[in-house]
Amino acid sequence: APTLLWFRRDLRLDDNPALAAAVTRGGPVIPLFVLDDDDAGDWRPGGASRWWLHHALEDLAKALSKAGSPLILRRGKAADVIDAVIQETGADAVYWNRRYEPWATERDGRIKTALKKRDIEAQSFNGSLLYEPWEIVSKQGTPLKVFSPFWRAVQAKGDPAAPLAAPKTLRAPATATGSEGLDDWSLLPTRPDWAGGLRATWTPGEAGAAERLERFLDEAVPDYKAKRDIPGTAATSALSPHLHFGEISPRRIWHAARLASEARSNDPMDRGTASFLSEICWREFSYNLLFHNPDLPEVSLKREFEDFPWRDDPDGLTAWQRGRTGYPIVDAGMRELWHTGWMHNRVRMIAASFLIKDLLIHWREGEAWFWDTLVDADLANNAASWQWVAGCGADAAPYFRIFNPVLQGEKFDGDGAYVRRWVPELAKLPDAVIHKPWEAKPMELSQAGVTLGKTYPRPIVDHAGARKRALEALETIKKR
Ligand code: FAD
Repeated sequence: APTLLWFRRDLRLDDNPALAAAVTRGGPVIPLFVLDDDDAGDWRPGGASRWWLHHALEDLAKALSKAGSPLILRRGKAADVIDAVIQETGADAVYWNRRYEPWATERDGRIKTALKKRDIEAQSFNGSLLYEPWEIVSKQGTPLKVFSPFWRAVQAKGDPAAPLAAPKTLRAPATATGSEGLDDWSLLPTRPDWAGGLRATWTPGEAGAAERLERFLDEAVPDYKAKRDIPGTAATSALSPHLHFGEISPRRIWHAARLASEARSNDPMDRGTASFLSEICWREFSYNLLFHNPDLPEVSLKREFEDFPWRDDPDGLTAWQRGRTGYPIVDAGMRELWHTGWMHNRVRMIAASFLIKDLLIHWREGEAWFWDTLVDADLANNAASWQWVAGCGADAAPYFRIFNPVLQGEKFDGDGAYVRRWVPELAKLPDAVIHKPWEAKPMELSQAGVTLGKTYPRPIVDHAGARKRALEALETIKKR
């Protein structure tokens, strides 16, 4: 009888353990993807993710058809859809790769129990992480709350299992099963079509992911450690959306990075490679945190922050979202996000700090905006990172360490290349004032065609005053 292969965040053929096991089991394989917004609730994919998902599914469908068994697309509650497809096809096994979002683990557990009760084989695999969240723990068997021991523990495990090759052919079931049309799912924006910048930036799908990795390993890894904080350069891999949708596996990345390092420097873990793989492990660490703290996306891990006197500031929030705060590095980041669905990590930290500390707006507002606008929006990474910046997470930057957006800009975008690209109305300002246009001389402003308050906003808050206000707010929760 056929095996139902339930695709989820593993939209690839390469190194896909559930798929490989389904092929090994013998018999036909029925690939299925379910758009299950109901079960995901508030955490159903946001706008930018839906755009990505459409193209990723298109790519996966092509690859599966070529391999011999077309992808079935269905909308609805996963449990119902799986039941229906089993009825239609006579499948006697369902295989999938695990997800770690609390709503998904709860749902998947329920589905597995129900299938087993009906004597249908149900098996899940690890297709998304180097190691399962329960495999990297302290000597006492408890979850690790600090990154460096976590990273040491991953390295101590040695190389993760070698990646599995993509199956060349899949046996299709004798009778075809109905699929919905991807276009009917309306995952793409229409009016207005805001996805032009996304189309120009990305190639969703397995081939696009492999190409990014190859280019990154060829060109950028040796300088990664030195340049990964410079947003004006293409020094990082930009693999995050591909990793999120599982178009490439972290195991594939791990082994490819070490091979390339060995070939380059006779050392499988040279500086650039170690730095890059440790970032891959920040992803693992976030998944670990989410798995062990299912309320991570909603509740501050340091519980006292639940009493923090956040401000309600709709105008400030809108200015931040639109990239009109008057702080060039923050605005550049927010506009890069709007245009491409991605933002450089350093600038994510600066922009997030500005929202949380300069505007005193709840980190969940920022988390929600990123959720809707990032193509790599990821429940674990997004929640863990927002809590990290807010100072309320595990191994977080302390709240009192408040980024100065001018100094951050000057340090990491010294020549203003990044600001000039994303805030073109400031492009002609000299380097010395590009991160603080309000200090430019009238001559400099007029020569650059800048009129503050008109062509570009004045700062919506004074950073020094905002910093003081944030520290005072922090004092109020310390006293409780
Ligand atoms: P690279 O530097 O090439 O790193 C390789 C991979 O490692 C990334 O693709 C990513 O999967 C992982 N990684 C790198 N840095 C981190 C990190 N700090 N935390 C966790 N994983 C990391 N990343 C997301 O994937 N999804 C999110 O929703 C997300 N939200 C964030 C929100 C905030 C406020 C901040 C500060 C960071 C957030 N990050 C998120 C983490 C990080 O900014 C991105 O993963 C990174 O910028 C992606 O670019 P890259 O692929 O070029 O990274």
